[in-house]
Amino acid sequence: MAELMSTQPAPSRPQTQTHRVLVVEDEESIAFGVRDALEHAGFEVSVVHDGPAALDAVRKARPDLMVLDLMLPGMGGLEVLGTLRKERHDIRVVILTALASENDLIQGFELGADDYIKKPFSPRELVARVEAQFRRKELDTAPPPRLELPGGISVDLARLEVHRDGQVFALTPREGDILEYLIKNRNRVVTRDDLLLDVWHYKSANVETRTVDIHIVGLRRKVEPNAAEPTLIQTVRGKGYRWFS
Ligand code: CA
Repeated sequence: MAELMSTQPAPSRPQTQTHRVLVVEDEESIAFGVRDALEHAGFEVSVVHDGPAALDAVRKARPDLMVLDLMLPGMGGLEVLGTLRKERHDIRVVILTALASENDLIQGFELGADDYIKKPFSPRELVARVEAQFRRKELDTAPPPRLELPGGISVDLARLEVHRDGQVFALTPREGDILEYLIKNRNRVVTRDDLLLDVWHYKSANVETRTVDIHIVGLRRKVEPNAAEPTLIQTVRGKGYRWFS
């Protein structure tokens, strides 16, 4: 993998910590374009072309973020994610997908992916998505330790768990952030732009993404007694979402 690393430091970048990004993509031309754009933005980039090599690279080199294509020969991207999740790797993940199948995306987010980008994409957009992942703010107040909701549901934001119907559902850190944001802003409608700016930390909400909606779908499956008729995370048509209380 070493020969795939950037050998030239970005000259104009201030001496801050360089974030290391692993690109997992079997199509050479896309992999090359992604690496080029990310290196230009000051990231330290390595590239692998299949799932097993991705697992190997994450285990050994511990990159900060992985750009992961879902359609890989042999071991697919979702399998890579599932394996890393079991091993409890703390890595940010941006999925690349030509499919944009909602089920794949929901599964990807449940396996800990943070965002996705649909092929074809512009290198600039990808760089913006990756940069946003490193812009997460520290929470300004400690989360409430445990929330008791109607229907015997309880949410533990510190442990990222939902207890419902005698079962425990594990939340991803991103789902926890969304839930906490909705709860903190329970007296108003939270728009998709609010979530993109304040939870995903995009510089501008002017991106075409269904990331928010798909995360909400996944979150409802864990929190709501009946995800098909949500009562806790309510949809405000044409505006966004609102926490029930
Ligand atoms: Ca591919």
